[in-house]
Amino acid sequence: MAAAAEVPVAVITDDRAIHRRSFRNFAAIICAGGRLGRRPARPGRTVGKDLGMPRPRIVIVGAGFAGYAAARHLLRASRGRAEIVLLNPTDYFLYLPLLPEVATGILEPRRISVPLAATLPGVRVLLGHAGAFDLDARTVEWADPEGNRGVLGYHRLVLAVGSVNKLLPVPGVTEYAHGFRGIPEALYLRDHLTRQIELAEQATDPAERRARCTFVVAGAGYTGTEVAAQGTLFTAALTAHRPLIRDLPRWLILDTADRVLPTLDPRLSHSAAQVLRHRGVRVLTGTAVEQAGPDGVRLTNGEQVPTRTLVWCVGVRPEPLVSGLGLATRDGRLVVDEFLNVPGRPDVFACGDAAAVPDVIHPGSLTGKTAHHAVRQGRLVAGNVAASYGHGQRRAYRHRDLGFVVDLGGWKAAANPFGVALGGVAGKAVSRGYHLLSMPGNRVRVVADWMLDGVLTRQGVQLGLVRGSAVPLAADDRN
Ligand SMILES: Cc1cc2nc3c(=O)[nH]c(=O)nc-3n(C[C@H](O)[C@H](O)[C@H](O)COP(=O)(O)OP(=O)(O)OC[C@H]3O[C@@H](n4cnc5c(N)ncnc54)[C@H](O)[C@@H]3O)c2cc1C
Repeated sequence: MAAAAEVPVAVITDDRAIHRRSFRNFAAIICAGGRLGRRPARPGRTVGKDLGMPRPRIVIVGAGFAGYAAARHLLRASRGRAEIVLLNPTDYFLYLPLLPEVATGILEPRRISVPLAATLPGVRVLLGHAGAFDLDARTVEWADPEGNRGVLGYHRLVLAVGSVNKLLPVPGVTEYAHGFRGIPEALYLRDHLTRQIELAEQATDPAERRARCTFVVAGAGYTGTEVAAQGTLFTAALTAHRPLIRDLPRWLILDTADRVLPTLDPRLSHSAAQVLRHRGVRVLTGTAVEQAGPDGVRLTNGEQVPTRTLVWCVGVRPEPLVSGLGLATRDGRLVVDEFLNVPGRPDVFACGDAAAVPDVIHPGSLTGKTAHHAVRQGRLVAGNVAASYGHGQRRAYRHRDLGFVVDLGGWKAAANPFGVALGGVAGKAVSRGYHLLSMPGNRVRVVADWMLDGVLTRQGVQLGLVRGSAVPLAADDRN
């Protein structure tokens, strides 16, 4: 991003002066014995008001699992004594694990989009993208969705920018594959699947019909596995009243690993693979996409698969912004210590997918890129930021996996809560219960959609609001 002065746009927030003033004030607060979370010196007045000054400002960049949890817990810890600013490009927290249900017509997109302002009262939500950081001056340049730019000062910075689609140098993939990371991609996929079925029915060429009814998913991690498992049920519902193509939909999932869900408990892999095969999904392990084109994909086993659909779920890489910070990275993630603090920068913290958090349970490795870790790291970072102001003790990050849930659609799921492998209806109950408990809002709406899906047929209409060109696979490299 160019510096604010280089572009002829309005500066929406120039907080540098405020920042300098409030930082001096913050030092005064500390000298005066004021601490985050402590009762103010005089009853009924905040420390900031006591001194007639702005409060210390904690800026959190990214309102995903880690950033949302950090904001929520900082709000509690600070009890109004700090200004908590949450900078995010959308006005909602996205509950990503239920994204496949949006793509396959079970949930409406707003169900998994939890509004930030309404659920985090007391947090100042800024709608925009962070660009350049000046870590010495403690400022963040940011731009709102209309391109207006501003500069935001901070006393503590929490980076929780997450990750983006992983790209591989495979010819044709950036042009013809679509990723699966957000609401636009899910809406695009739902429309695209519906359109392929509709166009297949009206096609006169049997080869074209077959190609339009063939759906390829690259990557058999939890995202790809859920997309393929739930996608088969969706396309079956779409073709139920179309006798000409009812038996045509074919799903294929491939991975270079030797099993689906390669990073999870092998028992989950086994039950997920069983469900996929039972639904007619072709599972190709030890295989990758060699080339993608407008009419099909070529696989590394030499097979040419005519298709108009390639869903790219091969994994994620940290948000590219991280590499531009001039700080140490490991596997593209920002290096932090076990307290989630950036070494040499006591005022900068990072957590979630974007941070290289040492896994103290498996020394030498990093914690996985999962929502489980991100949420817990967000909570911990809140405590450690508060501790940096003298409120409580900082703690090291330590979390042992308690299990994973993979929702396969219908009455099937694979789960291993506390190491107990569950499938079928029991797995499904655990999976849905877990998601409901984990969502910070919208629970009644989600349950309502689940109940409606239980009794009604899925709506086979495409609105065409998100075109393929609007969700290019490489869009994440914008910074
Ligand atoms: C489809 C799907 C299904 C998944 N299912 C599961 C599951 O079942 N269980 C599980 O444990 N994990 C699951 N995951 C992984 C999990 O969602 C991630 O590990 C988790 O989201 C990481 O949390 P985070 O806070 O680090 O990043 P995110 O949740 O990705 O949040 C990052 C936030 O930062 C914002 N941001 C990015 N750049 C900037 C910027 N420059 N300025 C301001 N804001 C910025 C983003 O818009 C986003 O809001 C799934 C992921 C996907 C994609």
